[in-house]
Amino acid sequence: MYCPYCRHSDSRVIDSRTAEDGAAIRRRRSCQQCGRRFTTQEIVILMVSKRSGATEPFSRDKIVRGVRRACQGRPVSEDQLAILAQQVEDAIRCRGSGEVRSHEVGLAILGPLRELDEVAYLRFASVYRGFESLADFEAEIATLRSERLDAWRPSAEDLQRLSDQPLPPRADSAPSGDPEPGPAGQVPAGRALPGERQAQGMSAR
Ligand SMILES: [Zn+2]
Repeated sequence: MYCPYCRHSDSRVIDSRTAEDGAAIRRRRSCQQCGRRFTTQEIVILMVSKRSGATEPFSRDKIVRGVRRACQGRPVSEDQLAILAQQVEDAIRCRGSGEVRSHEVGLAILGPLRELDEVAYLRFASVYRGFESLADFEAEIATLRSERLDAWRPSAEDLQRLSDQPLPPRADSAPSGDPEPGPAGQVPAGRALPGERQAQGMSAR
């Protein structure tokens, strides 16, 4: 490999170590001509087999492009897209196979995308899973809602933690024991722990 500084073709390996949990090897190299150091990485190329039977190397860029389309107009940043593509790659590499079907790549996108933005998720899922009617959307939204409720159920530890941290006095000084939460804007910054929001969300139902 050429030195990135002077293009010399010879370099000496001064250190090798595994990276990415053993999925890659990084080598620190020293250029034999200019003496500058650089790092190379050796990684198993993950192949994706398409329905047509053709295979191509897994590409994070391709994931980002596909998901970006579903995220149009949504508050999702390029950094978040990059992280999602990384998560997808990690999830697939974790399976320990050098080749996956393109279908499995799509499946691996669904989970992280749902975490990122539910509207984008619905768009992506509608194409990917071939929604054909409103009923398909309704069923998917019902699943999202019910699983979101599950996720909001506070654990015993959450409840314990909440009871350790009394809420600050409220501006409108409602009588204690009033389960009615104030608008989100009344929760002072720094107090809006996820657990608290969840507990309030629960009591509002
Ligand atoms: Zn050099």
